[in-house]
Amino acid sequence: MSDFLVDLGSNPFARKVIQQLGLPVPLPAALERDAQPWQARPLVGKRAIVGGASTATQSAALRSMLAEAGAEVVSPEQLGEGGRPELLLFDASAVADVAGLRGLYDFFQPRVATLAPSGRVVVVARELELALSPEAAGVQAAVEGFVRSVAKEVGKRGATANLVRVGPGAGGRIAPVLRFLLSARSAFITGQPLLVTARAKELAAPPAVRPLAGKTALVTGAARGIGNATARLLAQEGAKVLLLDRPQDGEPLARSANQLGGIAVQADLSDPAATAAIVEAVQQAGGLDILVHNAGITRDKTLARMKPEQWDGVLAVNLAAIVRLTAALEPQLRAFGRIVCLSSVAGIAGNVGQTAYAASKAGVMGFVRAQGERLASQGITVNAVAPGFIETRMTEAMPFAIREVARRLSALSQGGRPDDVAQAITFLASPGAQGLTGQTLRVCGGALVGA
Ligand code: NAD
Repeated sequence: MSDFLVDLGSNPFARKVIQQLGLPVPLPAALERDAQPWQARPLVGKRAIVGGASTATQSAALRSMLAEAGAEVVSPEQLGEGGRPELLLFDASAVADVAGLRGLYDFFQPRVATLAPSGRVVVVARELELALSPEAAGVQAAVEGFVRSVAKEVGKRGATANLVRVGPGAGGRIAPVLRFLLSARSAFITGQPLLVTARAKELAAPPAVRPLAGKTALVTGAARGIGNATARLLAQEGAKVLLLDRPQDGEPLARSANQLGGIAVQADLSDPAATAAIVEAVQQAGGLDILVHNAGITRDKTLARMKPEQWDGVLAVNLAAIVRLTAALEPQLRAFGRIVCLSSVAGIAGNVGQTAYAASKAGVMGFVRAQGERLASQGITVNAVAPGFIETRMTEAMPFAIREVARRLSALSQGGRPDDVAQAITFLASPGAQGLTGQTLRVCGGALVGA
């Protein structure tokens, strides 16, 4: 679905007229996106300025990652007057006292206004461990408030700001995470803290190109929307994909499976009896590396008006099916496998009319936290993505005024696309995401609600 304000803003003439007339019309920036398969050097043509406290611990890793991904690290002098860097990176991991926070201000204050459209800000900090002194813990937590606010300030330009926290012994795992966050694949992820840890068993040298070659993936709810986009991107990166949806969606499902060289699996996830057939389909495919629990439904009603079957229906598909299918497929899931579940910002913030939906989506977050811990010793990671307002059939059905407000209430002032969520799922499904487990990654454009 198209967003008329993004379309209008992409027209230089219309943009100029609106600005000259001083009309109070927000013109969200068109976001740079990347629909191509993963490349070895996705940051070619991007100029990066890297800063950090004098005792910074991750700076060398940042610089070598940038060089490998093709970015050019420049000094402010090299950039010259009026130069606009695409990437601003700061290593705050060694900041341990309040005075040290001044380094963030000193680095970003003169540069933030020069950030190029669709630019990227990434700050690296430490995991918030109890072992830190109270002052160091406070200061490392402060970095998050800073980054979330920067995200809101740069969003008008279509730029994003994210925080990468690094746990003990996990420095070697941050490069693929940075590569993703600095690339155009993370266009709708902003104001987001990600924690990279050494919890899941170590995996050597993840591939940067065709990361899913030789892998088998199952995507539920794959006939349309986010699930369909996910199946397409997983196949694009080399995975053999099993696409699952309800029997009544058999036709679009079969069409997509044919296009992707995948396998269609018809099953109703609300029916526990369907589990055996799903397990059999996975066995026939030779086992599983990636399991994407995407199927989900809404049955919105305020609590006072909600019928028991509405409550039961939502919990059955959005949570019970995830619990049941994960348990049934665990024996089929190979070491270093990946489980990705769909949550929602409604599960973080709650929403009028969505008690059942928000309960199910918050439940997903709790589920991935515990499963991530449980499966870490096998190198299997378990994460969730929480989309905000995504332009799908579901949101197209909203009344115009509500849809407009929901779209604009984010740092990027626009809705996301199914591919934005699918890109995040594909990244979490890749070998390079070994440092992330038990987490929920928001793909919400910096939604003011639920952040
Ligand atoms: P969609 O309605 O376009 O697609 C969902 C798919 O799941 C459909 O193909 C449907 O047939 C399938 N499905 C539903 N019940 C099923 C069942 N019992 N058995 C098998 N398949 C079933 O939805 P979408 O917008 O692509 O959402 C995908 C996921 O993302 C959902 O979990 C949703 O809650 C979540 N989400 C979406 C948004 C958004 O803005 N679109 C926001 C937050 C979260």
